[in-house]
Amino acid sequence: MDHQLRRKRLAARLPDLGLDALLVTRRPNVRYLTGFTGSNGQVLLTAETTVFLTDGRYIEQARHEVPDLERTICEDGFPDAVASGCGDLDATAVGFESAGLSYQQWHDLSDRAPRLELAPVGDEVEQLRWVKDPEELAMLERAQAATDQAFEEILERLAVGVTEREISMELEQALRAAGADGIAFAPIVAFGENAAEPHHDPNHRGLDEGDIVKLDFGALVGGYHADMTRTVSFGEPAAEIRRIYDVVRRAQRAGIDAVHPGASGGDVDRAARTVIEEAGYGERYTHGLGHGVGLEIHEGPQLRKDGPDVLPPGAVVTVEPGIYVPGLGGVRIEDMVEVAEGGCRPLPAATKDLVVL
Ligand code: ZN
Ligand code: ZN
Repeated sequence: MDHQLRRKRLAARLPDLGLDALLVTRRPNVRYLTGFTGSNGQVLLTAETTVFLTDGRYIEQARHEVPDLERTICEDGFPDAVASGCGDLDATAVGFESAGLSYQQWHDLSDRAPRLELAPVGDEVEQLRWVKDPEELAMLERAQAATDQAFEEILERLAVGVTEREISMELEQALRAAGADGIAFAPIVAFGENAAEPHHDPNHRGLDEGDIVKLDFGALVGGYHADMTRTVSFGEPAAEIRRIYDVVRRAQRAGIDAVHPGASGGDVDRAARTVIEEAGYGERYTHGLGHGVGLEIHEGPQLRKDGPDVLPPGAVVTVEPGIYVPGLGGVRIEDMVEVAEGGCRPLPAATKDLVVL
């Protein structure tokens, strides 16, 4: 992808921020701006030029992945190199990512470069990342396709006595077999009453007839994360679970219907939350409606109660309402959707009808 275009867009922000240069240190942001996939890389960007910093382990990798930038190999951490780089570039007002430096790094940088005016910068690169370009969308679609395929396959593996951990491991294998580079996050598998925990850690609980089965998982492809939740029933579910499933399904549809360019995260959250509140389960819905997804599993824009983020066309967000009843279980349905002219486009193909196995 055109990393140069991304850097140009970021550089165009420097005058508004009152900065001569910006130091980018958050890994997904470095990857977004350069294509570098290693564990240690920094970007020092001015209006005219960009310098890429890494250490000796990554000389070869950086030569392949970041061929278009001047590369500096730092033997002793990046603060020294940033200090001398800013001197060469004649930059005095230098921004750093407030979420991207440890206190120790900030301290070292201030120490090595006493003449720099260091200023914290918020989610500038993250906001550029909200809008996916066609290459990024293609990666998310491939990640979703692998996720859909793994869902089909895991349904065949549900049987009396199989444990949450076994299903979690099999989901991981199914994702890789379907073409994923890895998993977007450790799969959440929750049987029966464990489904009342929104983020249950799979354990040795065995599957029983009549259990609800909540699966939240996704593939990682080319650095991009898929995120999907499906809740199915192993045997006939309790009457209240059927009722809850219907409410969550309607809430999810209302949320998806409310997604369009210009809508705020708070508006979309409200549309889904109202359905759940009117059904009497407001207190059992304990999280926000969704989040942006891309190079990170959780990124902006956020869909949450009174959330101010405004959805741009090209953003990809999840819509994932849930109801959780202690002792009984829980239901969540989650899709990634692309914000598109006039509304949105859900990425998953997997059914959202209640599957009773
Ligand atoms: Zn999820
Ligand atoms: Zn999610």
